[in-house]
Amino acid sequence: MAASSTSPLIIRLVSASVAIANRAGSIIRKIMKDGSLNIVQKGGEGIFDPQTEADRRAQHCIVASLMTRFPGITVIGEEELEKEKIEDRQIEMGDSQEVLGVQCPPQYQDIDLKDVVVWVDPVDGTTEYTQGYLDHVTVLIGVAVKGVAVGGVIHQPYFNYKTSPVEEQGRTMWGILGLGGFGFEHKESSKRVITTTRSHLTEDVQKTIDAMKPDEILRVGGAGHKVILLLEGRASAYVFASLGCKKWDTCAPEAILHAVGGKLTDCHNNSYVYHKDVEHRNTGGVVAAYSNHDFYIQRVPTSIRDKLPTQVSE
Ligand code: AMP
Ligand code: MG
Ligand code: MG
Repeated sequence: MAASSTSPLIIRLVSASVAIANRAGSIIRKIMKDGSLNIVQKGGEGIFDPQTEADRRAQHCIVASLMTRFPGITVIGEEELEKEKIEDRQIEMGDSQEVLGVQCPPQYQDIDLKDVVVWVDPVDGTTEYTQGYLDHVTVLIGVAVKGVAVGGVIHQPYFNYKTSPVEEQGRTMWGILGLGGFGFEHKESSKRVITTTRSHLTEDVQKTIDAMKPDEILRVGGAGHKVILLLEGRASAYVFASLGCKKWDTCAPEAILHAVGGKLTDCHNNSYVYHKDVEHRNTGGVVAAYSNHDFYIQRVPTSIRDKLPTQVSE
């Protein structure tokens, strides 16, 4: 029997998700290279929320690959798509040997498929993808078990894209609670750098950041990309005191951040939950940090925090 079929479910899921996210990254690069983005607006009147051919094709590949390999699994993807016949060659059957080689944390040895929900953002940072900020783009696959973000994969398809040939572009980070995070190196910085949205800035978001007296503000696209900055120590906190970010944006990044001892919560310091019936919007906003999360929470102005509905976990 192949090693992959004898490993615990969480290991098989994260291992498959690494290979599937890499495949989605190739799809995203190819569609950009061919210039066939076919953008549609899904935000309604006056709201800029684009969906491209890359969002659609990458999600089809990710969802079909997970459903083929883990029959009966619950997968929630960002895009609302018609069911489509997928050819066998479009199913990613690969694995990450690195993930398959780890020791599964004992508390996740025997998880049940019915307790798993996989949250998929096929292209996080679509706005930036359409505007040429390509390194802001990530593919996010988060594995929740009984509502907790336990495993996460962040693939950054355009990492090194300005300096490397296409076959060397992209990188993938992954993590599992109780095991750790992999695919990046953390460097501590003494500066207080806050990262936040590039394309969804509001007055309240800005006021909240100002109250934290940062040395520097990094406005970049994507929840995945901002958590990469935390994981690498290039930013100290990710702050977004506003609605708009969704469960598929935070599940994978949260799992990796928590796996290395960081914290991602809403602006009330409450954790998000990721079971299948949960509200998709992260109504309480986002405060995330590799360390000193309490400092940032305490500085969210009460008047702004009180406008953001918290989600009490069941
Ligand atoms: P950003 O930090 O603006 O790049 O947003 C992180 C994630 O949340 C992306 O997937 C965005 O599409 C989503 N998001 C944040 N704010 C909004 C909003 N006001 N409307 C739609 N999506 C949003
Ligand atoms: Mg997103
Ligand atoms: Mg997306």
